[in-house]
Amino acid sequence: MVLITAIVLHFLTSMGAVVIGRSNVQMHDQPSLDAAVVTSLDKHQQVNLEQSKDGWLKVSTDTLETGWIPSWFVDHPELETEDSLVAVIDKEMAVYTEATNNSEILGHALIGQVLPVINESLGWLEVEFQEKTGYLQTKQQRLANAKDYPSHFDFNHPDVDYDPKLIEEARKKADPIVTVRVGLQALLSAPDRESALVIGPQIGDQFELIDYVYGVDDDERLDYYYVRDQHGNVGYLEAEIASTQADSIGHVTQTSASSIKDAVIMIDAGHGGIDAGAVNEAEGILEKEQTFATAQRLQESLEKAGATVILAREGDTNPSLGERTDISNTQAVDAFLSLHYDNAIDYEEMGGTTTYFFHESDEALATAVNDQMADHEIGNNGTIFGNYYVLRENTRPALLLELGYMSNENDSKYIPSDKYHQEISEAITKGLIVYFDQ
Ligand SMILES: [Zn+2]
Repeated sequence: MVLITAIVLHFLTSMGAVVIGRSNVQMHDQPSLDAAVVTSLDKHQQVNLEQSKDGWLKVSTDTLETGWIPSWFVDHPELETEDSLVAVIDKEMAVYTEATNNSEILGHALIGQVLPVINESLGWLEVEFQEKTGYLQTKQQRLANAKDYPSHFDFNHPDVDYDPKLIEEARKKADPIVTVRVGLQALLSAPDRESALVIGPQIGDQFELIDYVYGVDDDERLDYYYVRDQHGNVGYLEAEIASTQADSIGHVTQTSASSIKDAVIMIDAGHGGIDAGAVNEAEGILEKEQTFATAQRLQESLEKAGATVILAREGDTNPSLGERTDISNTQAVDAFLSLHYDNAIDYEEMGGTTTYFFHESDEALATAVNDQMADHEIGNNGTIFGNYYVLRENTRPALLLELGYMSNENDSKYIPSDKYHQEISEAITKGLIVYFDQ
């Protein structure tokens, strides 16, 4: 990261002249911080303004030296010289791979994130983003002094334990073992629920993994594990009910937070944007709207308890599942909570809240949160293993909370109400306080 030396201008005089407000202001030969320095301008020196472009001012001196000084400091008298700069994200935005809107999107910077600035050139900030270099438009940013921001939000300091390459290598070397995580299941003779039963495995039974079977309609969705047991029986296990030994490699079993006040909690409002999630047409309820409304209440409740909150989405957008877990992993959050509302059209009697966890080490967190949710009159289905991407690929403690069934008449009365969002958020917060503080 470069130090931003310079600053600069306390005011622009009328029409064409600029008075420099600070000593040693560097004038560059191009509108970029890494361009050559033409000269240093002194405090009170008057220069002529020739052009304004991409957040830079082209100026000339009485001795006819011409160059560029950054105008984006003019509006920010609080910015200090000799200090590293950060971009504070006030609005969710794309981070590009190059300094142009036409380049690929590296990911989305989310509200509350603070990205270290490496350089500024031609109206684009070069920033550190998820351990990579990305670009954001300077004029859309709020610039600040790096020292004013706590390390919680600093992408420059991801959890030392998180190294995706090491994790991937270790997972490749793991024994090919599949464990059944939900009881009363079937080992099937074909990758099809209607196929014949080979045997009925119990919870905890282990199999040798032979192959993965992906769904034809979505190449990211794993549908079945093709496995063999110790007696030589082979068959297909639904991926939904099982985990592999490799899955939990890299997943932390404990974080450093010893109180809710030390904890960073990431709230993932499920779905969003073009993905509405479940829809209850009769009541006009969209899952994406309800998860977002609940996330806002939960954020308030957690912040009131002293936690730091990171949101997966700040509006009606649809970050990919990979983007959601990447934030959790790189920010080393103490708990990740994915909020959803369930749907079971063919089983309208199904109702109540459910807490899903994937990694065995997250079961205590699941129990702590679920115990509090279970007190609510909407009803509760307990803690259940769930093979969901945002849980499985999360290296941080992670839960997926289904907060009621949109297909259930009784639940649908609670789901769209602010009162319910408030009550269930308080229950979740209470569960997290119990988990972190005791
Ligand atoms: Zn959902």
